[in-house]
Amino acid sequence: MFKSKICLCLTGSTLSENLNILNKYRNWIDIAELRVDYLTEDERLYIRRFPEMAKVPCILTIRRKIDGGAYVDGEATRTLLFARGLAFADQDVRKNFAYVDFEEDFHVPSLQDAALAFETGIIRSVHSMDGPIKNIPQKIESLRTTGYEIPKVAFMPRTLSDVTNLFRQSKDLRDKDSILVAMGGLGLPSRILASRLHSFLTYTSPVELSDNLSHLGQIDPITLSEIYNFRSITQETSIFGITGYPLHHTQSPAIHNEGYKNYGLDSVYIPVRAENVDEAIEFADQVGIKGMSVTIPHKQSVLSYMKEISSETGDIGACNTIVKNGSDWYGYNTDAFGLMEALKKFLGIKNLKHMKVSIIGAGGASCAAAYVVKELGGKACIFNRTISKAKDLAEKYNFKYAVLSAESKSLLDEYSDLFIQTTSIGMGSTIEEISKDPIDFYDFKGSEAVYDVIYTPAKTALLKRAEEAGCKISNGLTMLQYQAEQQFYLFTGVKYE
Ligand code: NAP
Repeated sequence: MFKSKICLCLTGSTLSENLNILNKYRNWIDIAELRVDYLTEDERLYIRRFPEMAKVPCILTIRRKIDGGAYVDGEATRTLLFARGLAFADQDVRKNFAYVDFEEDFHVPSLQDAALAFETGIIRSVHSMDGPIKNIPQKIESLRTTGYEIPKVAFMPRTLSDVTNLFRQSKDLRDKDSILVAMGGLGLPSRILASRLHSFLTYTSPVELSDNLSHLGQIDPITLSEIYNFRSITQETSIFGITGYPLHHTQSPAIHNEGYKNYGLDSVYIPVRAENVDEAIEFADQVGIKGMSVTIPHKQSVLSYMKEISSETGDIGACNTIVKNGSDWYGYNTDAFGLMEALKKFLGIKNLKHMKVSIIGAGGASCAAAYVVKELGGKACIFNRTISKAKDLAEKYNFKYAVLSAESKSLLDEYSDLFIQTTSIGMGSTIEEISKDPIDFYDFKGSEAVYDVIYTPAKTALLKRAEEAGCKISNGLTMLQYQAEQQFYLFTGVKYE
């Protein structure tokens, strides 16, 4: 059974920093890559000692800036550094570098001979930092100049279709070792599913050094192993995922992958960043993905790809779950179920009869909220920046609507038993994003219950203000968990309890 190896990229500025970090991750990796380009000049004098210190197979790499690295000195000094790393080869090969990475255009026969004489494998690499490599099999073939090399192709995709192409073309490359990497956020599936690509290894970054290579989209080996269960992924593993854009703050992989582990299912759930929904469907079809969660901004646009949708998906007009059966996709909405269960738990009641509810926002999550309030027998007023969307949604359920601004304060006062906040305002990680409050013009009395569907950050500015005024509050984690549990059942047929 083919299994890709996990390689840890060490971009510390000293050998001892790299060694300390390596020791922390040792149990989760197979190979370490010493990135000499990140070492200080003084430290570069001692690189030859590293394999013996590291006690794992090591790759010697001196990556130039044009190839996505940090090395800016000339080729003559780089050649000398390679020579220093490969010199004085030991009879005990564990004390030598196991691999050396020479770029496509770096051909120094004496270094190549030295590597081969002492059983140091050559990784022959090409990096395209500004776009895809279209014909990957042809590129791989051209990199095998001596016949001994492991060719490596790494590129920065422009769209998810470039990553789909990598998976498509990798099918012709299974007979010999090669390393295949799509970089950046779009390329993450290629790193997690490296075994499906038959890639010799996948590169990871320790969290301590992640800033150095953040543009490459590597994840740390503990996340790769513990969240994505990397070592268990084979050709038989069922693949699920979440698609959206930009897909920065998703906790869904942690929830689903933990479920697979707990129930002993041979499955993995991965993030699939796609700017357009057609690219997400194309990728899913190519890779054999069996089901996906769908998030902003694809919940409506995905509907046209569905052979059939569930009745509540039709009522809500948004789809957050797609499941493949044969060659067709079927659409569901588990947001409504998730929010319904979350509200019942939050309020400790079975319905919303006699309650007047303010729904803030009129996007996909709001459609689910309006559906739930109606189902639970409540009355609502929908507030939105774009009034036409509030109107359309409100008219569907015979609710009131108003523009999201200070002029609607009295209506907010009237519909103040429960607030369901469904806009994306307040979500994010920067100070600017998380300090925003969509109803900063409203003064809480303290009697309101406030449910914010956002869960990153755990307490939005709105929730903080409501809590200070004495209101009962909840973030959207409960909704996320309940909707994911129903999704899990749709994907696997197993109840998540
Ligand atoms: P969406 O369909 O894109 O809707 C976004 C909503 O936010 C719209 O009402 C939009 O108003 C409003 N909005 C965005 N930026 C605004 C701004 N600067 N000023 C005023 N209004 C603004 O997104 P969605 O799918 O409903 O998701 C919304 C939020 O819910 C996200 O934070 C998402 O993570 C969260 N969510 C959580 C769960 C969960 O399980 N907890 C599930 C689904 C969604 P306009 O109509 O005027 O553009």
